[in-house]
Formats: sequence, C-alpha cells, structure tokens
Amino acid sequence: MVDQKLQERVAEKIRECLDIAEQRFDRSFQTPEISYKLRGLVAGQANSRLWRIRINSILLQENTDDMLNSTVPHEVAHLIADKVYGHIRSHGAEWKSVMRLLGISPNRCHRYDTTNSRVKVNVKHKFCYKCNCRDMIIVGPVRHRKMQSRFSMNKNSGYRCCSCKGYLVFVKPLGQVTYEQARDGKTKRPTKKYHVLKKGSKMERALHIYKENQFLLSRITIICLFMTTLGMSKAGATTYYYNCQKRAA
Ligand SMILES: [Zn+2]
Ligand SMILES: [Zn+2]
Repeated sequence: MVDQKLQERVAEKIRECLDIAEQRFDRSFQTPEISYKLRGLVAGQANSRLWRIRINSILLQENTDDMLNSTVPHEVAHLIADKVYGHIRSHGAEWKSVMRLLGISPNRCHRYDTTNSRVKVNVKHKFCYKCNCRDMIIVGPVRHRKMQSRFSMNKNSGYRCCSCKGYLVFVKPLGQVTYEQARDGKTKRPTKKYHVLKKGSKMERALHIYKENQFLLSRITIICLFMTTLGMSKAGATTYYYNCQKRAA
C-alpha cells in the first residue's frame, strides 16, 4: 500500500495543478477522489464523470518523482480538459493545451519498467487487436471468434473501443510469443513527423501565438494577430494559421 507521506505528496501535486487551472479558467475545481488500486501496464487513469484519478501504486513507488511530475499532472489535465471543454478526444488539442498550461510537454504514454506491476497474461491462444488510441488490445479465443464471425466480411471487427470509439481492428494472433514480444511488436501507429522549427523563425513565432490563443480567440482574430505581429499578408497569415492547426493537433 502507498504510505501516508507519499499519498500526501500526490494530493499536493494534484492541488497544485488544480490551482493553476483555477487561475487560468477563473473557476474552482473540486479535489478528485484518488485511488491506488490500478494495476498492470497503465500508470494512471482519470475518470471525469466520477471525478476520480486512479494511480498505479507499484509504479508510483518505483518511479516516484517521474510519476509525480508527469503521470499525476497528465491525469489531472484529463479532468480539467473534460470539465472545461466538455466531450473531447482524450489526448486531443484541448488536453494538450491544459498540459502546456501545467508546464508539461504533452506526451501520451509512460515509459516505466512495468515488470513488477504487470498483470500476468498467458498469451497462448490470445489475439491482438488495436484501435485509434491503443496499439494492443488482447482478446481471448471466444471473443475473437465472435468478433470474426459476425463481421467476417469487414476488415474491422464491429466492436468499438469504449474510449476512442474507433473500431477494433484485428492485428495478429499472439500464438506462442511472450507478452513483452507482443507489446514491443511492430504494431505501433505511425505518427506524422515535422521538422524541428528554427528558433525565432516565423513559423516558430506563429505557432507560439497560435498555441497561446487557440482556445481563446477566433480563427480570424488569430490570423489578424499574425498579420500585425509578424507582418504577414492576409493570405500568408491564413496559410500559417492552417499549418499551425496541423502542427498543434
Ligand atoms: Zn491520458
Ligand atoms: Zn481506443
């Protein structure tokens, strides 16, 4: 179990994040319920409907500083983003903007060694599916057969992920491979890469302005801001606006 002192540090961190958000959004946020019963590969989980954060206690004890500085704010950002912006994509632009507000780069996944907290899964006769938000969803043989028979003509299974609402797509049978092999397998979704922006370049300055104002100002106002502060033409500013939108997504 997590000792009292560590629990206090978590609570303090959560309050610290909420205070920043209260200032920024000019409203108050209740302190969420905190549970330490989360197991497995996930470091933390937020449920804004129940206003609750679940923390993986084993990972917390093994990676205390990292968990306090990234996982805890990550989950608090989910609560804040959901509360402020309503029904949104869980790791979308709104959540990312809250992460930046909390002073953290919006990375999605944790990178802890999860050997101790892992729930042991016998992957023999299991099947791997994926959706838009997860690369590996393990399904047993009974469910797999059902998913394949009902929608055998489609490439998707007909089942949807409860968090991203995307269809579960069959990747491969896991057969005799170990959990680690399956997890590290080449099922990662390719993400679009952008060149690193030169410091002080027009695009970098534009992106900075965009990120600070994307949820506060209208599209037209941001374009005008580009024109006045960066000396752009309307056409140029519009192009920059859409490029910023793509990069910030
Ligand atoms: Zn998340
Ligand atoms: Zn999903």
